[in-house]
Parts: sequence; C-alpha cells; structure tokens
Amino acid sequence: MKTHRATARHRKRRAADEAAAPVAAYDEAAASPAQSLETLRQPRASRSAHGAAVIALQRVVGNAAVERMLAGQVAQRYPVDVPEDASCDQVREWMETSNPYAREGNAAATTVTFSWSATWRITGRAPNFKLRLSNPQVTMDGPHVDMPQRKPHNPKLRAAWQRMYRTLRDHERRHEAIAHRWRRILLGRLRKLSIPVTAASREEVAAQARELVGQRWDEWIEQHQAQQSEIDPFQALLDCP
Ligand SMILES: [Zn+2]
Repeated sequence: MKTHRATARHRKRRAADEAAAPVAAYDEAAASPAQSLETLRQPRASRSAHGAAVIALQRVVGNAAVERMLAGQVAQRYPVDVPEDASCDQVREWMETSNPYAREGNAAATTVTFSWSATWRITGRAPNFKLRLSNPQVTMDGPHVDMPQRKPHNPKLRAAWQRMYRTLRDHERRHEAIAHRWRRILLGRLRKLSIPVTAASREEVAAQARELVGQRWDEWIEQHQAQQSEIDPFQALLDCP
C-alpha cells in the first residue's frame, strides 16, 4: 500500500535552503513489474491491490504504456446462464432477476479505479505553510465493461437480443464517458490543489501531506461515483417477438 516517507536528505537540510525544494513523493511498496502484471491479470484482485500495481508499473514503464496495456482489458463477458433452447421470456426473466448485477437493478457493469501520484511542493514558513503538488499524475484503471453474452439461433430472438444489447452498450458508454471526463477533472484539481497547513516545520507538513491530499481525493472519488450512480439503475428491455 501507499506510504509516505520524508527522505533522510530532506531532514538534514537547513530550513533556509528549502524555500521551494520539492519533497519526496510518497513511496509505493516496491513490487517488481512481473508481480504488478500478475496482479493486474487477476480479475478478482482487490481495487487497492489493482491501484498499487498500476502505480508500481507506471513508475517503471511510464503512464502512457500502462494505460495502453489496461485499455486492452476492456471487454469482459458474463454468460447468460439459461439453456440453449430457452424461450425469449425465459431469457428476459433471467436477465431481470438473476444476472450478476440484477440485485442493483442493472444488467451490465462498468468499473473504473483512479490512482494518483505526485511530488510535494511545500512553501511558506512556520507555522503557516502551503502544500501543493508538482507533476501530479492520475492513472485510470479501466473503464472495464462487463456485458451479457448470448447468441440465440432463432433469427427473431437474435434480433431482439441485439437490440437490447445495443441499448445496454450505449448506456455503459455513458458510464465510460463519465469516467474519462473525471480523469481530466481529477488531474485539474490535483494541479490546482493548494492546502494551507499550520505546522511547526516543513517535515511536519510532509508527514501529513499524503493524508491531507488523500482526504480531498476521497471526496472527489465520491463525487465521481455519485455521477455514475445518477444514471443507474438501468435495465435494457428485451422486447420479445
Ligand atoms: Zn448503469
């Protein structure tokens, strides 16, 4: 998980030398690229494990390379668990009551995990400091879209299924668009972030920095989630012939 350590070098410096000196960014627990890749390939890995793996990889191969890699993982498909010769009504009932997201009133799911990293920029003098971020980065893991998979043989049933599927896919695209928009919003907010901190020393500010930024970040992530929830629940109608 993410931890913050002020560097030893920083501690030895005299306050006068530090007017605009960047303080070390928070450290990720060191994971090898192979370990990180392994974590990302496990669909059941926890979100925090996923996020930590993304940041660890990002440090080694860069943000753009990690995003290209994650973009390849978009499509997941859950099977529609009814017999091959099930009627359209049976399929509809299964979708409404038994699909993996039926409990929330949905028929598909789009998930995304955002992580951030940055270098601290602490200005001011005791007891009035300002905490800002240098070179903040936002990494987006996803959006991962999970859609139902079925291919009815009967042409009429297939047409009805495909209409339902397209409607559902369009809905999930709205979730994806919200995620992409929030990626830019989050980066803009990290860049503009300026937190006044009352502290006895620069070290004291650095020691709290990760948590102070993290509190803001958590609020923003909740706002993103609230926007995602505004367009749910959503079930596309399977209009049986
Ligand atoms: Zn939805």
